Amino acid sequence: MTANQLAFPAGARKLIPISGDRKYFPVNRVFCVGRNYAKHAREMGNDPDRDPPFFFLKTLDALVPGGGPVRYPRMTKELHHEIEMVVAIGSPGADVSPELAMQHVFGYAVGLDLTRRDLQAEAKSLKRPWDFGKSFEQGAPITAITEVNDCGDMSKGEISLSVNDKVRQLGNLNEMIWDVPEIIAYLSRFYYLEAGDLIFTGTPAGVGPLNCGDQLIGRVDGLCDLSVNII
Ligand code: MN
Repeated sequence: MTANQLAFPAGARKLIPISGDRKYFPVNRVFCVGRNYAKHAREMGNDPDRDPPFFFLKTLDALVPGGGPVRYPRMTKELHHEIEMVVAIGSPGADVSPELAMQHVFGYAVGLDLTRRDLQAEAKSLKRPWDFGKSFEQGAPITAITEVNDCGDMSKGEISLSVNDKVRQLGNLNEMIWDVPEIIAYLSRFYYLEAGDLIFTGTPAGVGPLNCGDQLIGRVDGLCDLSVNII
């Protein structure tokens, strides 16, 4: 395959920098877990005890590696922030047991699951897919990935988001309803996980609206800070 066999130039595959390394993590797919912190499930009007995990996907054009400026998206009046820890998968696996799941983790990052909440709410009420609410250009800013060997115990630690220096979201990774090994095990029953897959692991309570000019700082203990400004 040469360049002049393409009808138009192929976009580069999305590459996420790896912290402290000159290599990049080439992304395959972006999975996201819904309602994985009890307080956030409640703020969205759901009973966290009864809901099994569920997933949605974002297309690769959503990724904004390294954060930075993000355009306020089209066709929404209610752009919401959801700060999340992201798991980067480093080796293939299907029907992975929770006991062996961590062997498939390449590293971790901090991500924003930006949401067109009004479009998501409309989809929910009409029992339609969430794609328009969740998957759109620049809807998933993400930091560099920290490799597992450079991380501490990521089953606990503070996760937070500040907007214009005010803390909007604050939680702890140990409040996840489904922890990282359980998420990987569950997802690998439905998909052949591949090296390059990313999994956004859900957001703690405190989601809310964003406006143009807002400056966001997302933090997870032990990972790179995510800095985003809405333009
Ligand atoms: Mn989310």
